[in-house]
Amino acid sequence: MSGQLYVISGPSGVGKSTIIQRLRERIEDLGYSVSHTSRRPRRNEIDGVDYYFVTEEIFRGMIEEGAFVEWAEVYHDLYGTSSSSLLGQLEAGRDVVLDLDHQGGRRIKEQFDAGILIYLLPPSLDSLEARLRGRATDDEEVIKTRIDRAFQDLKNCISYDYLIINDESDQAVSKVEAIITSERHRRTRMLPKVQKMLGL
Ligand code: ADP
Ligand code: 5GP
Repeated sequence: MSGQLYVISGPSGVGKSTIIQRLRERIEDLGYSVSHTSRRPRRNEIDGVDYYFVTEEIFRGMIEEGAFVEWAEVYHDLYGTSSSSLLGQLEAGRDVVLDLDHQGGRRIKEQFDAGILIYLLPPSLDSLEARLRGRATDDEEVIKTRIDRAFQDLKNCISYDYLIINDESDQAVSKVEAIITSERHRRTRMLPKVQKMLGL
């Protein structure tokens, strides 16, 4: 049985990468695909752990070689999910969590119909702004662009399989964990029982 694909989407600064990091501490053998990007690393970011940081020229060459399952321009930088890392893990039966913008989530769903789309909402736009400022990595202009984009992006949330508010008490990690464990239960425990019942 191939692994299950989960996409965590939501506006920049809502807490996607924080939640994925915590999930990986809680759930055994949860894969993730490190994206390639043409943006420059921020302070403390490690190449190959946070992103693969490549030049725009290398990135465009990779698009031509068909190295990406999907790619998108986000805030004028290029981001792409590498096919080899994603497909390899899924084929090996590993569940994989991706952190994608809305456009990436939509493209992935076109290719992996069984992929589960989770949208993280901030408790309010004010708290989203506070988180973006708290991250202290962007200047005022970039923060303003991200907030404007969030306003548009949030309208898409209704098409997702799950909507989770990432509030201050941080229950969102437990909610995503519950989705993944219940899905694992359905696939690994229930499916073989049904197949046996049907003599398959
Ligand atoms: P994203 O990956 O969605 O851009 P991050 O994971 O980088 O967002 O989080 C943005 C900022 O918000 C970080 O400084 C992070 O520590 C903070 N943060 C994440 N989750 C929460 C939460 N539940 N409550 C308050 N702050 C949070
Ligand atoms: P940043 O890393 O600058 O905070 O935000 C980058 C944005 O791009 C986030 O919204 C993140 O979800 C998205 N992103 C990261 N990797 C990929 C990817 O491989 N493909 C797509 N489509 N979006 C990505």
